[in-house]
Amino acid sequence: MIPLEEAQQYVVGRCEPLGAEVVGLRGAAGSVTAEAVSSPGRIPPFANTAVDGFAVRAADVAGASADAPAVLTVVGTIAAGDAPTVPVGPGEAIRIMTGAPMPQGADAIVMVEWTTVHGDTVAVDRPLEPGDHVRGAGEDLEPGDLVFDVGTVLSAGHLGVLASIGRYEVAVVRRPRVGVFSTGDELIDGPGELAPGQIRDANRYTLVALAERDGYEVVDLGVIPDDEAAIEAAMRDAVARCDAVLTSGGVSMGDYDYVKAVLDRIGDMRWMQIAIKPAKPLAFGFVDGVPLFGLPGNPVSSMVSYELFAAPALRKIAGHPEPVSPLLRGTAAVAWPRRPDGKTHFARALAEVVDGRWQLRSAGGQGSHQLTAMAGADALAVLPDGDGYAAGDDIWFMSLR
Ligand code: AMP
Ligand code: MG
Repeated sequence: MIPLEEAQQYVVGRCEPLGAEVVGLRGAAGSVTAEAVSSPGRIPPFANTAVDGFAVRAADVAGASADAPAVLTVVGTIAAGDAPTVPVGPGEAIRIMTGAPMPQGADAIVMVEWTTVHGDTVAVDRPLEPGDHVRGAGEDLEPGDLVFDVGTVLSAGHLGVLASIGRYEVAVVRRPRVGVFSTGDELIDGPGELAPGQIRDANRYTLVALAERDGYEVVDLGVIPDDEAAIEAAMRDAVARCDAVLTSGGVSMGDYDYVKAVLDRIGDMRWMQIAIKPAKPLAFGFVDGVPLFGLPGNPVSSMVSYELFAAPALRKIAGHPEPVSPLLRGTAAVAWPRRPDGKTHFARALAEVVDGRWQLRSAGGQGSHQLTAMAGADALAVLPDGDGYAAGDDIWFMSLR
């Protein structure tokens, strides 16, 4: 058996990022930049007020207090979007709204809360320093400043910055189009009666949803029977249309593993037995240069295998600089016994915050066919080889949300 980290490093290490494409900002969240972006100008583009109030000369209100306010003549109003025309002279003030440009002559803003208006004068009841409540031009970005480097995972905030500097298009690593199919003669898809021995295909629904959760375009390639010619035709079609392919079933040690026969013939595959439970078998390799993940058939195993291997590999393909997500730390809410078997166990768990710390307990039946507990789980608790945990022990886990 191969240790988990070694298998993960192998799979992720063999995947390479796709090429770049230029995309609009809408829908770009989650993509990874393929260019360094620098600012063409200053942000903010002009000095402006951070609050509603009055633009003044700080020297005019030095020493002002509630008992002895400084009284100034109001000579105009500037709203956000206005270009100031009137300057602020000695003994004068201009009413100003948040975001409006600083008028000539003024060097500070007094908040409206500290003022009282009488006719065309305003009484200011506190002193100000030059620059108070003024947002200087270029305080966020100066021309030529590096905004984001290559390899930045674009978040909502990044898109806002790009829009604010007028960059409505950005080069990103192309996100993979992911093909998904299920294999197995026992599988049917649809509401009809089950004949003896048949079950309904669950894995295509879970895997399509996981790949979509991770932001990829998914091609649903259906259910393929256990037939070498059908499997080969499906594989060839999949790699012609997709950047990565997920299959489930047919990779374990069974006698009728047609997937294995076909992939060994047309692909460059490694068949792994990984020291984990569930999801011990994994086939990974390339068909016509396209990465293919042969995930195990048991529904829980295929999901866990996706999270542990396919998800980080797809992130690498999509350009993420750190594709393997770090584990989180919590506490075992109850005892979590297990037997030594040379494997790391990934237990379906419910994670809850108690006193500011994650506490984990079992989400239910832990068989690799018991998808219900997986469906209800928020986390996979990592139980290293050994006898498990006592209640209160520190425990590592992976979030599934
Ligand atoms: P296999 O890896 O093909 O030997 O399958 C292992 C177990 O998973 C068997 O019980 C299969 O019936 C089941 N299985 C395989 N594929 C699916 C699927 N797409 N949906 C539900 N169960 C499956
Ligand atoms: Mg099968």
